[in-house]
Amino acid sequence: MSKPRVAIFDFACCEGCQLQIVNLEEEIVDLISLVQPVEWREAMTEHSEEYDIAFIEGSITRPQDEERIKQIRGQAKILVALGSCATTGGINKLKNNFDLNEVKKCVYGEAADMPHLDTAMTKAVDEVVKVDYKIHGCPINRDEFSYIVRCLALGKEPVIPNYPVCVECKKRENECRFEFDEICLGPVTRAGCNAPCPSAGFWCYGCRGYVDDPNVNAAKDVLEKYGKTIEDLKHKMLLFGSKQEHTI
Ligand code: SF4
Ligand code: SF4
Ligand code: SF4
Repeated sequence: MSKPRVAIFDFACCEGCQLQIVNLEEEIVDLISLVQPVEWREAMTEHSEEYDIAFIEGSITRPQDEERIKQIRGQAKILVALGSCATTGGINKLKNNFDLNEVKKCVYGEAADMPHLDTAMTKAVDEVVKVDYKIHGCPINRDEFSYIVRCLALGKEPVIPNYPVCVECKKRENECRFEFDEICLGPVTRAGCNAPCPSAGFWCYGCRGYVDDPNVNAAKDVLEKYGKTIEDLKHKMLLFGSKQEHTI
């Protein structure tokens, strides 16, 4: 049986999720026994326009990005969004809360009007094309990436958690961050990371995106219990949960 050909593409991002893949080190050798990388700018020089599975890192932030992702989608049998920039728009969506001309001036100063610096509202990949699977997180969890690649190579359906981070956090017997007068997004955020942030003494800032059907009433109860409001929670959500609200 021939191995599925895999391509990894990046759009607007820090490339930290690709770095997580590189950091798999010897496990990459195992994965290469199951799939054949044919395009991966960060790690190889070869290029190919023939691939079966496309992993997409990064957000869609320019009109030309939309054309490119549509072309990739047309070629790939399976398209996987890799990391929160791709799955939700991630931290890149912060700019959607501001006037984009102001954002450009802030970043590029006097050069902001140069045509090659044109920008647009940030979109997650599935706001432009169909996405088959999402590997959540900023950055992605290496073990989860490896698991999903193995599933796809073997034709199995990967199981991606659809319950909140609190479940994993409680299993690790962490003291809740609300007890420290903090706001934690664990009650509404998709698990699968094994709650590293609360386990290290930080609140969950929601990098894996929300569970499909967050238990808003339970979250409200927690907030009330600790004297916090929904507005407090929404403010915390801006980092990884900003929407498209403004236009250029
Ligand atoms: S999800 Fe985070 S680590 Fe991954 S590319 Fe985006 S900013 Fe970087
Ligand atoms: S709210 Fe945060 S710290 Fe508290 S249990 Fe849930 S994930 Fe853990
Ligand atoms: S605990 Fe929250 S912020 Fe930390 S990795 Fe998991 S989802 Fe992301």
